[in-house]
Amino acid sequence: MQPGDLAFDQQHIWHPYTSFREPLPVYPVAAAEGCELILDDGRRLIDGMSSWWAAIHGYNHPLLNQAAQRQLGHMSHVMFGGVTHKPAIDLCRQLVDLSPAPLQKVFLADSGSVSVEIAIKMAVQYWAAREQPAKNRIATIRGGYHGDTFAAMSVCDPVNGMHALFQGSLRQQLFAPVPDVRPQDEWDPQALTAMAELLQSHHQEIAAVIVEPIVQGAGGMRFYHPDYLRGLRALCDQFSVLLIADEIATGFGRTGELFACNHANISPDIMCLGKALTGGYLTMAAVLATTEVADTISAGPAAGTFMHGPTFMANPLACAIANASIDLVRAGDWRQQVAAIARQLTAELEPARRFPAVADVRVFGAIGVIEMKQPVDVARLQQRFVERGVWIRPFGRLIYVMPPYIITAGQLSQITDAMLKAAEEA
Ligand SMILES: *Cc1c(COP(=O)(O)O)cnc(C)c1O
Repeated sequence: MQPGDLAFDQQHIWHPYTSFREPLPVYPVAAAEGCELILDDGRRLIDGMSSWWAAIHGYNHPLLNQAAQRQLGHMSHVMFGGVTHKPAIDLCRQLVDLSPAPLQKVFLADSGSVSVEIAIKMAVQYWAAREQPAKNRIATIRGGYHGDTFAAMSVCDPVNGMHALFQGSLRQQLFAPVPDVRPQDEWDPQALTAMAELLQSHHQEIAAVIVEPIVQGAGGMRFYHPDYLRGLRALCDQFSVLLIADEIATGFGRTGELFACNHANISPDIMCLGKALTGGYLTMAAVLATTEVADTISAGPAAGTFMHGPTFMANPLACAIANASIDLVRAGDWRQQVAAIARQLTAELEPARRFPAVADVRVFGAIGVIEMKQPVDVARLQQRFVERGVWIRPFGRLIYVMPPYIITAGQLSQITDAMLKAAEEA
């Protein structure tokens, strides 16, 4: 970095969810390897965020680098209209293979939010093809996060979903309450009553229910009981509504199963994948659908054409890296790694409960959360974390981590230690 670079950044560059008036400080990263970010001044930070759920194998991974370099020597990109290529075919074969059996058709997209748009369009086009065009609204649960584009915003939590400002220009969707049975609680069928009533009274206008299975991420980092998901699957069948599983954050092992849907042994009609799909290297997402969904759309209007086609659809470089990342997932070490991270997070975060400012401590898979009673001072906390050699980015009342699966026990202890200190000092 040159003198003036940070000033330019501050004056000209938008960062996620920030203002130019009072921008939060940003830390220049020069490189990243393994489980560490290396700052410009040489300091090394242990990464607790996996760059927002994505870098599950860590940074600068030799096999992912090799896949990228090999593919660069062939082609970085070609259009996907009228053309196909081996990296895309290999990737879609892997996705069909790994995902729940009924999901057989793959649409490759360029980001998680876009994949949510595509999933919603599929659901709407499905009911148009079945000559029930009134079924065009989406139902969901509160506390969700599905992305920042317009249809995705319409199904985020309407209060805490970061998009309240846009309510007036969003389609009004239908919301059931946050499921209030946690995975470790005894299942209480009452938890589904509100959703059942919502579907009962509105199913004639509902195309699909979209949920993040088991783990609600950026909408509040909440975990709910697999029986809720199982019951929801049954309700969707009963009321002829499609089920969309947004596995963008949870896919590829994060929750202890390959997909969070597997905790409930269910298959959605449509599934969105993203984030860890390329091991955190490039932006790419995938929408998987059942043969029934695809065949119905194909028999419908517009000559059965599914109306979507991003310029960078099936980008070969991203596909090649995704294939290498999925090879690593298939090697299977993640299962022990995620279980070990879950055990250690549970043991080491538990003591935070006794601090007066802490509202809750919860762990599910390789995800650890300390929920505070009051919103945290992000800038101050972040500075403390950097001083303590870790990279954690809290939001709202949540101090949370989802580290790369390759993190060592020693590195993870440094992270949990910094989280406890932050919770105690608050
Ligand atoms: C991150 C996320 C998205 C949006 O993905 P982007 O790639 O940021 O557009 C959608 N749904 C869930 C559950 C996510 O965690």
